[in-house]
Amino acid sequence: MPTKVPGAEEFVPDTDDLSVLADAAQGCKGCDLYLDATQSVFGQGSATATVMLIGEQPGDQEDRAGAPFVGPAGKLLDKALVAAGIDRDSVYVTNAVKHFKFTLPERGKRRIHKTPSRTEVVACRPWLLAELDAVRPDVVVLLGATAAKALLGNDFRLTEHRGEVLGLPAGEFAIDPQVVATVHPSSVLRGPPENREQAFEALTDDLRVVAGLMRGHGR
Ligand code: SF4
Repeated sequence: MPTKVPGAEEFVPDTDDLSVLADAAQGCKGCDLYLDATQSVFGQGSATATVMLIGEQPGDQEDRAGAPFVGPAGKLLDKALVAAGIDRDSVYVTNAVKHFKFTLPERGKRRIHKTPSRTEVVACRPWLLAELDAVRPDVVVLLGATAAKALLGNDFRLTEHRGEVLGLPAGEFAIDPQVVATVHPSSVLRGPPENREQAFEALTDDLRVVAGLMRGHGR
């Protein structure tokens, strides 16, 4: 019988104060990922941001620093945001899962990223919903399939809908932002070097769609 995962719900305080939420996330035991990670990595950015960017989970560097998108994928994302004309300081960035999931190879100490399971994504979702309620963004950008499925459902196919302007499923959320799904910046880094420029341009094109939506909201 599969182990029951309690989920984050009981650890999420009833507040829209992001710093209180971030502090509380340090004590979350909603799934087993807190056991091996250094700390939970909560979102960062302005509570009044128009745009919320959501990735998969913190990586090795984010786990050590306690901040999202500070490693190589974050640097690439920064470049793509600049190329798309979006000010990084004007967005809120976070992840679908707040603790780093990794495996240790038999030899060597480098921790290797492991994709969180659907159960872990669902367990962590109350934190993401609390962030959405607190920031109330006009536009949500889902970076990669894990983030996209966390909000749009397990049947969502990123390859079919990337770059489109979507909405959240009706009736499930207290807010109704525009939603754009695209790839996670780490996929650009992981792809074949000869395709990297093209993959970066495709990510930037999707973020240009977001920049257009921001202009529509007067930002
Ligand atoms: S990954 Fe999410 S649900 Fe699991 S312990 Fe960390 S904060 Fe809690």
